[in-house]
Amino acid sequence: MPKLTYIYLDYAAATPMDPAVAKVMEPYLSQQFHNPSATYLAGRSARAALEKSRAAVARIFGVRPAEIVFTAGATEANNLAVTGVAKRFPKTEILASSIEHDSVLVPARELNAKMLPVSKHGIIDLENLRKKISNKTVLVSVMLVNNELGSIQPIRQISELIKAERLKRAANNNKLPIYLHTDATQAANWLDLHVSRLGADLMSINGGKIYGPKQTGVLFVKAGVGLVPLIMGGGQEFGVRSGTENVAGCVGLSKALEISQLCRVEEAKRVSELRELFITGLQKSLPQVVINGSPKTSAPHIVSATFPGADNERLMMELDEAGVQAAVGSACSASSDEPSHVLRAIGLDEATAQSTLRFSFGRATTKANISKTVSLLKKFADNE
Ligand code: PMP
Repeated sequence: MPKLTYIYLDYAAATPMDPAVAKVMEPYLSQQFHNPSATYLAGRSARAALEKSRAAVARIFGVRPAEIVFTAGATEANNLAVTGVAKRFPKTEILASSIEHDSVLVPARELNAKMLPVSKHGIIDLENLRKKISNKTVLVSVMLVNNELGSIQPIRQISELIKAERLKRAANNNKLPIYLHTDATQAANWLDLHVSRLGADLMSINGGKIYGPKQTGVLFVKAGVGLVPLIMGGGQEFGVRSGTENVAGCVGLSKALEISQLCRVEEAKRVSELRELFITGLQKSLPQVVINGSPKTSAPHIVSATFPGADNERLMMELDEAGVQAAVGSACSASSDEPSHVLRAIGLDEATAQSTLRFSFGRATTKANISKTVSLLKKFADNE
């Protein structure tokens, strides 16, 4: 990893590329630049590298390689999942959690999706979901880990509800399928991604959050789930995502995923301890601080903290000047001045949302980084 001269606490927004990833990508950016659709030897060898990467991702998801579609990031994968299903089944219904990333929410809203509320801890209300599933529901989209709170959603239980609905439809001769999509972008470094254990029919991940290249992503599409493509052209990626494949990017993403899954259990333990240290440190030095999200079911890398009375933009800038990079909400919506829809969905008012910062940890985060950040926060937040 590159040696950082500052304290980086925004791993949920971007991760530095693992040198081992850059190394495996390099040949495909230089000598082996060929188009994988070319039929001469060099083209076939680019195709072989692409297919090897697909097989590696498929192995980790526990699926068939033909069920793996490479995309340019999670935004595209999420757009494709939501719009691709909706276009195939017009006049049906989509359900999405109210704390989804905008790349799910914006297309879902455009398709008049029904929104699913979450508890104050940022966990979906299963009973409400059960009631909202109707005989016209074709897609339920709920993320595995929320990017602002770290809350882990009960995907397995959601898939059980969907299974029950399938049985009901079979009994009623209702031929409409119902699929579960999960955005696993923030889960990929930390949780088991085995699709059959999760019970998902569609699942998105993102290379840029797992120490791989940005603008690379995957959408798992279960066999039989036909999507209407968003990007049309030469028919690459099983006709679902046209365009000359980003061989170097796919090779990099698959390597990054292999590495992150190999070290995930150990890293999750280490980073959970850092998270605990950070939370207890904050609570001790700033008793007014409120930790948002689910105390029990959280991914290890995210802490959302409200500093009552403080302005999060100002706090973030003071931290930045002191060499600590943290986030005001999620970086994806940083261009907007609107308070975070996720914080609003867990019941925070506008002022409280604007006193909230997100800290996210990763491979280079140390105990010393945590104590330094806690003491800086004490200094800045107490002076607000
Ligand atoms: N989903 C989640 C949960 C995310 O955190 C992000 C990135 N913040 C995305 C989707 C979109 O990723 P990208 O902007 O790289 O396409």
